[in-house]
Amino acid sequence: MKTPFNIECLVPDLPLPDEVAPYIDEMAAVRWYSNFGPLNQRFEAEICQFLTKKKLSDKTPKALTCSSATAGLELALRALDLPRGGKVLVPALTFPASALAILNAGLEPVLCDVDIDTWMLEPEIAEASLDSETVAVMPVTTYGRPLSVGKWEAFSREKEIPVIVDAAASLGQQAISENLIFVFSLHATKPFGVGEGGLVVGFSQELVDKMRSLSNFGFKGLAGIIQSLGLNAKMGEYYAGVGLAQIKRWPQVFEKRQRVWQAYQSELARFKGTVRLQSDASAFVPGTLMVRSSGLGQVAYERFTANSIQTRRWYLPALYRHPALKSYAEDEGCYPVCETLTNDLVGLPFHGFMDNKAVESVCTVLADVLELS
Ligand SMILES: *Cc1c(COP(=O)(O)O)cnc(C)c1O
Repeated sequence: MKTPFNIECLVPDLPLPDEVAPYIDEMAAVRWYSNFGPLNQRFEAEICQFLTKKKLSDKTPKALTCSSATAGLELALRALDLPRGGKVLVPALTFPASALAILNAGLEPVLCDVDIDTWMLEPEIAEASLDSETVAVMPVTTYGRPLSVGKWEAFSREKEIPVIVDAAASLGQQAISENLIFVFSLHATKPFGVGEGGLVVGFSQELVDKMRSLSNFGFKGLAGIIQSLGLNAKMGEYYAGVGLAQIKRWPQVFEKRQRVWQAYQSELARFKGTVRLQSDASAFVPGTLMVRSSGLGQVAYERFTANSIQTRRWYLPALYRHPALKSYAEDEGCYPVCETLTNDLVGLPFHGFMDNKAVESVCTVLADVLELS
């Protein structure tokens, strides 16, 4: 998408037509375009291998392709057969789709405050919000920051509560493990972009089979007979073809992002003490890059825009400020950390096509805003 900005906030990095063409040819040769065709089957198998590099178990993961992460989250919640109207804890600082999936599955989101360092829903916060009506927890890998699988495994086991991880922006970085369900997005704006699409990953064949059936109207067994009330959330073969091409080029995609992140980290070092990053920032490559400084958010947004630098304040406002979600919020005073982050956070342009000069220009304007130059 061409914008009038000199430095764009986000530029998708998807395979070129030549890289996708062989898969499209294969698809056309067999004239199989959806309904878990050969490209989908291969993509699921290759994604499992891809994920196995970051898995914390001896078992083999199972993957299901679907039309989006939003649909994938809904499928995962529905497949768990949770009591209708049950409450699902979700951070208030996330993309609205996390809460929409909960509602679409017939459940009720409980919007929780987040941790001041990770900017995420952490097990300790979830524990304090649990009550007898809580049926599941949906932590989010906010801005692409991987979550601690060990801590959430322990939480899920001790509380006997299913944990569905909204790992939308973390494919390629989030480790997977046996007792959690992971949902990834393949949307064009995510680091591992395909266009539109999602992936649900779990270790239970039975659960993944159930989600697959739910993603195909609820059909199972005899042709045309629905066994459960499903939806149509399948991924078409075209996108599976793009996905197969994207797996091949992922090392290059990731390396480019890593290089830009390194450039940012050295530039941002001069703001030490003034500008904060999400905790453990050097241990992963952000999906979208947010930085924090007291009261920075709106001022920086305006100054970047005036300097032809495109920016976004990702995941803001927090969910309790969306008119459609207000009624699921706790009292105003229950979100001190989200309120602080709302004032402080601003997104910096971040994508694999940025050169060092662009990173420097962004940081020069940031220094101006902070009057540090
Ligand atoms: C992008 C995003 C989604 C939505 O993903 P889709 O594949 O576009 O449905 C959900 N949750 C989070 C946290 C996201 O960042």
